[in-house]
Amino acid sequence: MRWEWIWSCPYDDDGWRVWMEDQIGKVSLQTVWEQKVKDCTRCELHKTRENIVYGIGNTERPDFLFLGEGPGAHEDNKGEPFVGAAGKLLDKILGAMGLKRQDIYICNCVACRPPGNRDPKPEELEACSQVWASQVVAVRPYMIVALGKVAGNAILGTSGQAVALMRKKIHTWNKLPVQVTYHPAGMLQNESYKQPAWDDLQKALSHVKAMKANAKDAGPLFGGEA
Ligand code: URA
Repeated sequence: MRWEWIWSCPYDDDGWRVWMEDQIGKVSLQTVWEQKVKDCTRCELHKTRENIVYGIGNTERPDFLFLGEGPGAHEDNKGEPFVGAAGKLLDKILGAMGLKRQDIYICNCVACRPPGNRDPKPEELEACSQVWASQVVAVRPYMIVALGKVAGNAILGTSGQAVALMRKKIHTWNKLPVQVTYHPAGMLQNESYKQPAWDDLQKALSHVKAMKANAKDAGPLFGGEA
């Protein structure tokens, strides 16, 4: 069964890439949800969750996949990512980028709410890494935007790096470009994050535009189709 590959997929560049190329158009988010996610008990967070918060949005090769940290109380209650105050700010930011929420895909590093909105623990991030990774592979974004310190470190495979450092360059995750920037919740607490975040997102927009203008860059990762 094809979906089983997701959970044993090697994370080294070559193994992942070969797998992705083989899987284009074949990994179904719905199947992954049904078979692997909807009854998940891989970490302790399942004990206190109300709902699993799976990703949402454009599943047909969006320009951007936004990766958040984890659901808060509103998200846990509704079963949807970014529906609280941070989500409202994210909608405004997307609007300023000329995008609507339906244009992008959005998911989190952990799909279940950490109690009291604490940071996810390393073992929870590890347990959930295949959940977001499979969504990236299934929706085939041009670029990933990691929101905040937890998401940035999760996707870069690091720990404790500051956003101020991670945002300085475009990284890659399995050859897919990654821009790290401030989390909207951080921007709500600290206005001074807004301008650098806007600069990062402008950079991300230009990067995707350039990728699309050069189908050679945009194509090979996902089987040659721009
Ligand atoms: N913050 C996140 O990181 N994710 C959500 O879904 C909501 C708030």
